[in-house]
Amino acid sequence: MFVIDPHVHMVSRTTTDYENMAMAGVVAVSEPAFWAGFDRTPSAFADYYRQLTEFEPQRASQFGVAHYCWICLNPKEAEDLGKAREVMSLIPTFLKRPNVLGVGEIGLHKNTPHEMEVFRRHVQLAIDAGDGVHRLILIHTPHLEDKWRGTRLIIDMLRDFGSAIDPSRVLIDHCEEHTIRMVKDAGFWAGMTVYPTTKATPERAVDMLEIYGSDRVCINAAADWGVSDPLWVHRTALEARRRGHDRSALIKIFHNNPAQFFGQHGGFAIRPVDVLDRPTQPH
Ligand SMILES: [Zn+2]
Repeated sequence: MFVIDPHVHMVSRTTTDYENMAMAGVVAVSEPAFWAGFDRTPSAFADYYRQLTEFEPQRASQFGVAHYCWICLNPKEAEDLGKAREVMSLIPTFLKRPNVLGVGEIGLHKNTPHEMEVFRRHVQLAIDAGDGVHRLILIHTPHLEDKWRGTRLIIDMLRDFGSAIDPSRVLIDHCEEHTIRMVKDAGFWAGMTVYPTTKATPERAVDMLEIYGSDRVCINAAADWGVSDPLWVHRTALEARRRGHDRSALIKIFHNNPAQFFGQHGGFAIRPVDVLDRPTQPH
């Protein structure tokens, strides 16, 4: 089965991970800009954005994996507004690079006023960089006790932009049982993250698929420098298979849905494939 991994932080993974993912059918990855585990100085961001747009695509291409990325300042580093302004001045140039899908993963971490201000400025950057429609946006929602309120705040801030924001061009990630309905009902794409310590498990992710449907849903493992595993996407596919979901359902969820969302960016080269499970005639 072919898989598109919609959210993975490959800068913190080994080349062997790329090889294992390719052997497991991963044909493309999408890598949002994120926190490095420590706060960087503003000058480090230009190098990080070059790593995402120049070095990682080369590393991935050794295994036939297409690498795309997203550019932003992560909400964990948004408290210092002076630093945020300096880093965000770099973003418009990098958004023009052909393998950059859009602005992300922006969002909220602790739901502070400064995080909200930096979130709004990022959304404005996506609007300003658009050509008639805004650039695609990928959004991180907060952890645990802050998640419901943070998701609510994010949706309300996006609504304040009115018709400048098209929900079908926004993916709100790390949805859980108490937030997925609000995201889907508002017309956005919903991401679910299977991660060993927080977020969802493969079983819970498949439960949510069964309850809320597989339209406008992407599943990722958000593998990064923490205890995580890029093949948990596949573990989720295995859980769905175990419950009897057929091949066409799996191809839709793990390949065609991300291809449909990312394909709204003209530079994303992988198209959805035929999901009809038709046997071919013997020759
Ligand atoms: Zn992430």
